[in-house]
Amino acid sequence: MNRRNFFEKAIPAGFALGTVATSCVPKTQLQYPDKHFHINRGYHQIPKLRLSMDRIVKETVGLRPFRASGPRLDVEQLGNKTIIHNYGHGGSGWSLSWGTGNITRNKVLATNEKKIALLGCGTVGIATARLLQESGCEVTIYTKDVPPNITSNLATGTWSPASRVCDVKVAKPEFKAIWEEATRFSFRRFQFLLGMNDIACWAEEYSVFNETPAYIPGAGGEDFEIEGLLPERVRLGAKEHPFKAGYVTRRSNMMFNIPTYLRHHLTDFMMFGGKVKIHEIKKLEDIDALPEKIVVNCMGLGAKPVFNDTELTPVSGQLSCLIPQSDINYKLYTQGANFISRKDGIYIGSNGIVGNWDTTPSKEQTEKTVGILEKLMREMKG
Ligand SMILES: Cc1cc2nc3c(=O)[nH]c(=O)nc-3n(C[C@H](O)[C@H](O)[C@H](O)COP(=O)(O)OP(=O)(O)OC[C@H]3O[C@@H](n4cnc5c(N)ncnc54)[C@H](O)[C@@H]3O)c2cc1C
Repeated sequence: MNRRNFFEKAIPAGFALGTVATSCVPKTQLQYPDKHFHINRGYHQIPKLRLSMDRIVKETVGLRPFRASGPRLDVEQLGNKTIIHNYGHGGSGWSLSWGTGNITRNKVLATNEKKIALLGCGTVGIATARLLQESGCEVTIYTKDVPPNITSNLATGTWSPASRVCDVKVAKPEFKAIWEEATRFSFRRFQFLLGMNDIACWAEEYSVFNETPAYIPGAGGEDFEIEGLLPERVRLGAKEHPFKAGYVTRRSNMMFNIPTYLRHHLTDFMMFGGKVKIHEIKKLEDIDALPEKIVVNCMGLGAKPVFNDTELTPVSGQLSCLIPQSDINYKLYTQGANFISRKDGIYIGSNGIVGNWDTTPSKEQTEKTVGILEKLMREMKG
C-alpha cells in the first residue's frame, strides 16, 4: 500500500473509531487523518475572495511622484535657507521612506542646526521627521494636507522598493548604490515595526500566471533587486496550489496597514514634541518666510510647481477597496490584476498611467480587475 492509499483508507477508519469508540483511542490518532485531509485532496487550501461589484466600498486614484533619474535627494541653497530635498519616490515611497529619510537626516545633521522645517506630511515626510527627532532635532511639519488626504493614503502598501523608482536608462550609475543603502536601511527599520498592531507585517504573496511571466509588476523582477533580502520565491507544483494556472509561485513579503501605520507614526511625532501646521507653500517666497533656516522638502508631487521640477511626473494608479474579509490574509498577482488584504479592506488594482493627472476612478478599470480576479477565484479548487 502506498502512502496516498494509506491516507485515503485511514480517513473513514479514523472517523469510525472517533464515533464508535472514542474513549479508547488516543487523541493524536483521531486528529491524524483529519490533519492530512487537504494533502489527500492534492492541493493546499487557500480561502477564496468574496468578489462582486457591490462589495466595493471605495475607489481611488493616486498619483505616484515619478522622476526618471530617481528621487531627488540633493541640497540646494536658496538665499539664507538650506533646502534638503527628499521627494519623487514613484511607486516605492512607502518602502524607501525610512531609507531616504536616513540619507536626508545625515545631510541635516551636517548643518549642525537643530530647528528644522519639514514640508509635507506623507509617509516620506513622517518617517524623515521621526528620524530627525531621534537625532535630537526640533521638527515642525508645514503641510497642505494631512492623512487621509494625501497620496500616501492611496497606495497599495506593499514592500516594493524598486517599483517605478527610476528609469534605469536615465538614472546615473551611482543611483543604484544610493537605492541599495536606502533599501537596506528601510528593510531593517521595518523589522522593528513588526508586532505593533500589524502596522507592518509579513504576508504570503502568490503569483498566478498561465505561463512563466517575464516580469511580475510590483512582485519583484524589477530592474533593481537585492539578493537574499526577502525569502526565496518558491515555484509550486500543480498539487501544491488550488489555482487553474501553469505557473504559480509563493513567497513571503512585507506589507503595511496604511491608516494605522500613519496614525501610529504621526502620534509618535507629536508625543516627541513635533508640531504640525497646515500651511500651503505656493512659491519659494513662502519658504523664505519660514522661521527655520533648514528646510526639508518632502512634498511629493507637490514639489513640482514650487521648484519647477520638469522631471517630476505623475503615474496614476487606481485601487478598488472591498469590504475586509478576515480569513483572507494573502496577496496575489495575476495577469492584469492584483490584490492585497489589509486590515482596512482588500485592495484591488493597480494600473499605472504615465503623465495622467486625472484622479477620477474609471468604472471600466474596476470592472476589468474585478472580472479577472472573479474568474480566477471561480476556477480555484476548494
Ligand atoms: C496606486 C498606488 C500604489 C502604490 N503602492 C505602493 C506600494 O505598494 N509600496 C510603496 O512603497 N509605494 C507605493 N506607492 C507609492 C507611494 O504611495 C508614494 O511614493 C508615496 O506615497 C510618496 O510619499 P510622499 O510622502 O513623498 O508624498 P505624499 O503622500 O504625496 O505627501 C506629500 C505631502 O506634501 C504635502 N504638500 C504637497 N504640496 C504641498 C505644498 N505646496 N505646500 C505644503 N504641503 C504640500 C501634502 O499635503 C502631503 O502632506 C503607490 C502609489 C500609488 C498611487
